[in-house]
Amino acid sequence: MSTSSFGFENTYAVELEGFYVPWQGAVVPEPRIVHLNRALAQELQLDEATLASDVGARVLAGTQALEGTTPLAQAYAGHQFGNFVPQLGDGRALLLGELIDRAGTRHDLQLKGSGRTPFSRGGDGKATLSSVLREYLISEAMHALEVPTTRSLAAVTTGEEIWRQGAQPGAILARIASSHIRVGTFQFFAARGEVERVRQLAEYTIARHFPEFSKEDDRYLQMFRAIRDRQAALVARWMSIGFVHGVMNTDNTTVAGETLDYGPCAFMDGYDPTTVFSSIDHHGRYAYGNQPAIAKWNLARLVETLLPLIDPDEDRAISLATAEVEAFAPVYEGHWLERMRAKLGLAGSEPEDGALVEKLFNALEGQDVDFTGFFRRLADSARGDRSAVRALFPDATAIDAWMDLWIARLARETESASSRADAMDRVNPVYVPRNHKVQEALDAADASDLEPFRRILNVLERPFDRREGLEEFETRAPDSFGQYTTYCGT
Ligand code: AMP
Ligand code: MG
Repeated sequence: MSTSSFGFENTYAVELEGFYVPWQGAVVPEPRIVHLNRALAQELQLDEATLASDVGARVLAGTQALEGTTPLAQAYAGHQFGNFVPQLGDGRALLLGELIDRAGTRHDLQLKGSGRTPFSRGGDGKATLSSVLREYLISEAMHALEVPTTRSLAAVTTGEEIWRQGAQPGAILARIASSHIRVGTFQFFAARGEVERVRQLAEYTIARHFPEFSKEDDRYLQMFRAIRDRQAALVARWMSIGFVHGVMNTDNTTVAGETLDYGPCAFMDGYDPTTVFSSIDHHGRYAYGNQPAIAKWNLARLVETLLPLIDPDEDRAISLATAEVEAFAPVYEGHWLERMRAKLGLAGSEPEDGALVEKLFNALEGQDVDFTGFFRRLADSARGDRSAVRALFPDATAIDAWMDLWIARLARETESASSRADAMDRVNPVYVPRNHKVQEALDAADASDLEPFRRILNVLERPFDRREGLEEFETRAPDSFGQYTTYCGT
């Protein structure tokens, strides 16, 4: 068995010298794979037997160097809660290399929790088992919900205890991403006035993610536009399922348009645009309802780094860039309306659909109605039985009036209401990672019982199919669960 059987490539290491520090994972006492994503391993053409072996555990813990690879810690900066930090970087992560999947697409394999690096600042470079399993679970749930996201390949325990408000089992997540190029990667070099490095990174980004622009004179502006569109599409997806990312700093915003960094994220139960879970988001900067505006703000930070590349004339560069940033709102609205049409069973489009959606959210306001449950039950209303929807509302007057409008709109579809209702069931999930159920699984894992984790993972891998015996995963948290709080850096 050889470590070379993993077949890594290393374009980031080879083409972007100076953008990272070559590094090795810390030695850990007892690396053991506690969960392996076999389906993803197959997609990535990885040798499953090797991966599942002791060699695989050491490779995925970062303690065994791989032939022909240069593990590295990436440099990046970022705006954290609006404040610029010129140097962040992989403080507890290592990029092992790139893998080409069956379809020929390139992915990063990164380890998170693999020990201190030159970017660790005060941190220990480690991750707790519960934070690793939390990311595993929610990222795989997001994938099943058809949201662009990093994936989870494996969770590895280290046999080490780490300290976070008490001793906790340590672990490492093996994460797959289209790339780990962040808005903050561009900011790192731009803030140092290193325009040629920014250009080099832009060229690499175009070659890797947007090769269709590589020959264009205005390719940097086109790249920005494409990144903007991906972010708009991504955030519209989040909004359509009640996902609160929780830490939309520019270092957690990828140019590939995938959800990255599952630290403090959570799903909203009762609809409320001000919903915040993160313990450090005191002013609600990253509240559910603020996410589109924050995505636009992050994109403005990206385009600032590109100004010298966009046009040598600064005023012209600014005016071109501003127009592209301002276009975020209509692009986002387009994606949002597309998601909402699908959720409401509308295949066609009418000019008044946007207003219908707005009226819906007015009717939901202040009702603390279960977001996931509401959309799923709406299909019953389309089939002629409104009782399930009405039961969710303390006062159903407003939603009844809205359903009258919506049912009339649905009647103008070419397909029958029942076939539109079936289509709704294919986009409105039954199961999302409910905070209380996620927490239950993580608490059990901390007490060495991984069964609840495996069970909820299995449930979330098929979020649209209601199955017998899984009612407990369908309903919102009981009142006794209380306010849910999430944390960064755990
Ligand atoms: P995050 O809030 O997870 O996006 O992380 C922000 C920055 O803190 C990144 O540079 C991380 O690498 C770093 N970081 C988070 N947790 C740790 C840790 N336990 N040890 C070292 N660096 C960390
Ligand atoms: Mg991060």
